Order: sequence, then structure tokens, then C-alpha cells
Amino acid sequence: MRIAVTATGSDLESTVESRFGRCPYFIIIEPDTMHFEAVENPNIAAGGGAGIQSAQLMADKDVQTVLTGNCGPNAFRTFGAAGIEVIVGVDGVVKEAVEQFKAGAFSTASQPNVASHFGTRPDTDAPASSYGPGATPATMGQGRGGGMGRGGGRGMGRGMGRGIGDAGAGYGSNGSMWSQEGAAGTASPSRQQELALLQGQTEELRRRLAEVNERIERIQQAPAASKLLAFVESRKCTGCGACIAACPRSAITVVGSRAHIDGSLCDGCGRCVEVCPTKALVLGAR
Ligand code: SF4
Ligand code: SF4
Repeated sequence: MRIAVTATGSDLESTVESRFGRCPYFIIIEPDTMHFEAVENPNIAAGGGAGIQSAQLMADKDVQTVLTGNCGPNAFRTFGAAGIEVIVGVDGVVKEAVEQFKAGAFSTASQPNVASHFGTRPDTDAPASSYGPGATPATMGQGRGGGMGRGGGRGMGRGMGRGIGDAGAGYGSNGSMWSQEGAAGTASPSRQQELALLQGQTEELRRRLAEVNERIERIQQAPAASKLLAFVESRKCTGCGACIAACPRSAITVVGSRAHIDGSLCDGCGRCVEVCPTKALVLGAR
């Protein structure tokens, strides 16, 4: 049997790390012999999905049971799929936690005990009201300070209620995070939803890349900027405005009965020249 304990350091004397997905180390132990392997967590700085990836890492390491402080819904679902037992609310020294596990002091978690993305910010490391009634972090801390006995494990079990997604059932009458967690759990993307989201983003990136490439191609194929520009022979212009409608670049205005060309807009297409009834427009070099 192999169990994993989330840890702040790489040996059995390290402290149990409260975060699962972003713990610094996983201490993987064979409880009978206490032989252990310290695995540095590659997901500690992951932008997202640390819980899922760390749970997958546990499955890859052939771990059967995970001891940790807190476990969010994404990791919890991954554990469920991999058949890995999770025990939450564990603290203290890793070696002592393992001894207590061997003595049967812990209960298996029936659901996650923190919301998604717990532990991504320092202010989320204190999961106030994340436990059910009768098992606030303060009471757990006091209870466990006396030796981390079964009281802590049972208290948490009661607080957890019946399961994620079952909002309002067993989540506590005090409006605790479990009620919110039910809703958040529903809204939190499953692995399939996350995959669909990422595939959608990939499609969007492909579409935008195609647009950029098309634009590049258009620019490359466009003729070189015209060296011509329309000029107005003022004495011939009557200010009729026919050239304004013909200009695709909106480069012409008529002021004081005389047409004026904005040289920064004119591309020398010559359309105005064609429509001018008095031949007041000519193309010339810029
Ligand atoms: S069409 Fe010719 S005459 Fe009429 S405003 Fe333009 S330049 Fe002047
Ligand atoms: S040459 Fe073409 S772009 Fe320039 S003012 Fe005439 S119609 Fe407009």
C-alpha cells in the first residue's frame, strides 16, 4: 500500500501542507515499512488545474490514499475517478499523521472540503466557514492541538454533509461555504467542460490566426502605394460635388464652391477625374 501526504518539506519530519494541489512536496510512503519517496510538486505554480494535475500525479504514482489538509472539488473528482481515497483535515508532522492513519484515526472524506482554487491566494489559506456546523477551523485547531485524535476527523465528516452538488443538504445552517460550494461545484467546470473550453479557445485562436494570415497575404499582394494624386484646377471647378460621391476614399471636400483633395487620403484611383463634368480634376505625381 502507498499513501501520500502533502508536505512542506521533503522528509517525514516535515509539516503536513494544508493545500493539496499546490503543496511543495508529496511524501509517498509505504506505511508498513515507512519507506518513503519525496516528490517535488511540479504543479505548485500552475496557473490553473493544479488540483487535477496533482491528483493525476498521485494516480501515476500508484497512491491509494492521500492525506492532506484541504481538497477542492476538481481534485476530489479526479481522485474519485482514479479510486483514490482522500483524507482531509490532516495537519501536524507527516510521520505522526501516518502513524495516526495506521491507527485508524482518520475517516475518508465523502466530499471536498474547500472550494475550487483554494490556496491560489494567501488569503484563501484560512478556509473560514469552509467546514460544516460544529467543525469550524478554530474548533478543529483546538481539538487537534490536543493530539489530533478522532474528534477532528469525525467533526469534519459531519460537517461535510452528503456530497457536492447537493447544495443545502448538510452544508450547514450557518450559510457556510458548503452551501456556496454546492453552487460553485455545479458551476465549476468538469474535466470534459474544461476540455471543451480549451478546444473552443483553440478554434478561436485558429480563426484569428487565419484572419491575420489573410491580412498579411492581402497586404503582400496589394499594389505598391500609388505615386499619383488628384489635383483640382480651381478655375475649372464649379463646386458641383459630383467628385465627392465618386471618391472611395472620402478624400474630397467642397469648400467655397471649390473642391479640395486631402492628399493623405487620395490613392490616385482617378474616379473623380472620370466624373468631373468640367475636367477640373487631373492626376499628377505626388
Ligand atoms: S466634380 Fe469637378 S467641378 Fe464638380 S466639385 Fe468636383 S472638381 Fe469641382
Ligand atoms: S483620385 Fe480617387 S482617391 Fe483621389 S480624390 Fe479622386 S477619387 Fe478620390
